[in-house]
Amino acid sequence: MLPRSSGAVLVSAMEWDEPEDSADSEAPPVSISGMAAAFERVVGAAVSMTAPPGPGPHQFRRWSGRNTRIAQTYRRGRVLLAGDAAHVHNAVGAPGLNVGLQDAACLAWRLAGAVHGAPALLDDYEPERRPAAERVATHTHAQTLSLAPGSPLFGP
Ligand SMILES: Cc1cc2nc3c(=O)[nH]c(=O)nc-3n(C[C@H](O)[C@H](O)[C@H](O)COP(=O)(O)OP(=O)(O)OC[C@H]3O[C@@H](n4cnc5c(N)ncnc54)[C@H](O)[C@@H]3O)c2cc1C
Repeated sequence: MLPRSSGAVLVSAMEWDEPEDSADSEAPPVSISGMAAAFERVVGAAVSMTAPPGPGPHQFRRWSGRNTRIAQTYRRGRVLLAGDAAHVHNAVGAPGLNVGLQDAACLAWRLAGAVHGAPALLDDYEPERRPAAERVATHTHAQTLSLAPGSPLFGP
């Protein structure tokens, strides 16, 4: 729970028991009552929640840690992918924005080179940046696993 300057409180709940094949698009829309139910499942106590003051729209967001994907190709002709268009992963560890900005920096000078007569510079964009996305996908997976509840290592 994170208090905001407006007096509202940002609430998030992390649950681990979603079905393997569930997709964000199949899940019901997030609501305050759904959020309160999730909170109760996680902390084991009912907490009364109401919409923050003001007209809204209020931000409700659901994301799935299983949504880890890397595009099959970063380039098709004149279309090049960077950032979340090229790779998405669990937000744990907060590397997403950085890896996307590094894609953009890598792509920007190559595009400038292509505009000035060296189109082959674009050929190395994907080989340079795909390994970074693969590393991030791997370590966010590993962090997610280490956060997940499981059997205690040592019994009582
Ligand atoms: C819950 C959560 C927490 C996160 N926390 C962190 C963090 O702490 N640190 C961190 O580094 N990263 C974090 N990330 C990841 C980070 O937010 C993303 O990696 C980053 O925003 C990706 O930037 P982007 O520009 O590639 O894509 P986006 O931010 O998705 O930008 C794409 C833009 O394109 C627009 N768009 C889409 N389709 C069209 C269209 N057809 N025409 C015109 N516009 C269009 C969209 O509206 C959007 O504005 C988090 C992500 C999530 C989900």
